[in-house]
Amino acid sequence: MSRRRVVTSVAKSMTRAGEHLSKNPTTTRYTRIILLILVVLCLVAVIVVACANRPPVGNSDNALTIHFIDVGQGDSIFIQFPNGQTMLIDGAKQSTVTATELTDYLLNLYPNESVDIDYCMLTHTDADHCGSLDDVINHNNINVKCVYQPRVVSAYQYDMLHDAVDTGKCNYSYLPYIDTNVYASFVNAVHNEMLSGVCTHVEYNLQGQTINGEGWSMHIYNPSEQIYRDLATGTQTASEKNNVSPIMVLSCNGRTVLFTGDADEDAENNFLSNVNYNFGDNYVWSGDCDVLKVGHHGGEQSSNTPFLQVVKPEYSIISVGDNTYGHPTAQTLDRLGDYCGDNIYTTQECGNIVLTILAGEMNWRMERNVVSAYLPRQYQLTVLSYIVCIGYVQSTIANDDVTRQLRLQAILTYQRLSND
Ligand SMILES: [Zn+2]
Ligand SMILES: [Zn+2]
Repeated sequence: MSRRRVVTSVAKSMTRAGEHLSKNPTTTRYTRIILLILVVLCLVAVIVVACANRPPVGNSDNALTIHFIDVGQGDSIFIQFPNGQTMLIDGAKQSTVTATELTDYLLNLYPNESVDIDYCMLTHTDADHCGSLDDVINHNNINVKCVYQPRVVSAYQYDMLHDAVDTGKCNYSYLPYIDTNVYASFVNAVHNEMLSGVCTHVEYNLQGQTINGEGWSMHIYNPSEQIYRDLATGTQTASEKNNVSPIMVLSCNGRTVLFTGDADEDAENNFLSNVNYNFGDNYVWSGDCDVLKVGHHGGEQSSNTPFLQVVKPEYSIISVGDNTYGHPTAQTLDRLGDYCGDNIYTTQECGNIVLTILAGEMNWRMERNVVSAYLPRQYQLTVLSYIVCIGYVQSTIANDDVTRQLRLQAILTYQRLSND
C-alpha cells in the first residue's frame, strides 16, 4: 500500500470515528472530561515541578556554590565559599583539551578578572586527578595561593617535600615516592608558583587538619600515617595510591558535603575509626552528610556499606566519563540507591553539576540531560510537560524505574530551561 493510500485510509477511519463520536453524546462528554483532566494534570505537574525546583540562588554573597565540573573520567571540583574564598579539588586528566576546558570554566566564572584559588587540593597522585593541575597553576590569570597535596615525593628535582623533611616541618618515618611525569609536573608548577610569590604555602594532607574561613570549615579525616606507610612499603597498588585521598567534611550554610577523592575501602575504614575525632574547635559532626562526592568514580571498592551506614547521603554525585573500568558499577549504584533513591547524579549524564546552598536550602543546576540532548529547545517545555503528566499518571499505576527516570529528566530539563 502506498503512503498516500495509507494516509487516506487513516483519515477516513478517523472521520468515521469522529462521526461515531458526534452521534454519541455520552462518549463525547467523557472524551471532553478526559481531555480536561489531562490539561489540568499538565498544568498542575508543571507548577509542581516549578515550585519544587526553583532556580539556584546564583552568586548571592552568602551562598556556598560547588561546581562538579564535567571533565570526563576524572575529578575536578571548584568551591565558592560564602566569604568569597575558593577551593579547587583536583584538576582532571592530562589533556590539552581538558586543561583548556577546565581553565575556561574557571575564568568564565569571573569575567574580566583573574581567578584567585585560595586553596588548591590535590587528593592523590593519579593522572585523572592531577593531570591538568599544572596548566591551571601555570595560567597567568589564575592565582593559586595555597596548596594542599599528598605527602608523597615526586620525581621533580626541587620537590619542596625534601626541604620539609630537612627542616623538620614533616616528622615521619615513611615517605612514599611516585615517579610519574604527570605528578612531577604538578609539583614543579607548585614550586614555580611559590617562587613567583603567588603561592605562599604548601601543606601535606593528614587526618586531623582543618581548613576554614568565615562561615565554613573543612575537616580532614584521612589519610593516616599508616596509610602513607602502606603506600611507602607496599607495591604501589591502585588501592594504595587511592587511599591517601583525604576524606573531608565541608560544613557550611547548615549543610554538610563529603569529599572523598578516590578513597577505597581502607581509607573508608580509617575514616570510620576517626568519625568522632575531636578537632579541638568545638566541631561536632553528627556522622551523616547531605551530599556525598562518591569515591573513586563509583568504583566497586568504594562506597562500602559500613561507610554508607554512617554517612547516609541524601544526594550522591559521581564524577565520571567514558572508561574501561566499568565506573560506576551497578553494585555501587545499588548501595548508594539504598540511601539516595533517585538522587544520584553523574557528570557523564548531567554535564557540569552546580550545587548552590543558602540558609540550608539546596538548589541543583544540571548542564544537560536526555531530553535537552535530543530535542530542539523550542519543543523541550512542551515535551517535558507531557512527560511529567505521563509520569504522574503512570506513577499512580506503577512506581517503576522508567517512571522515576522520566520524571527526573523532566525536572532536570525544567531546571535548565528556567535557569537560561
Ligand atoms: Zn580517579
Ligand atoms: Zn585514583
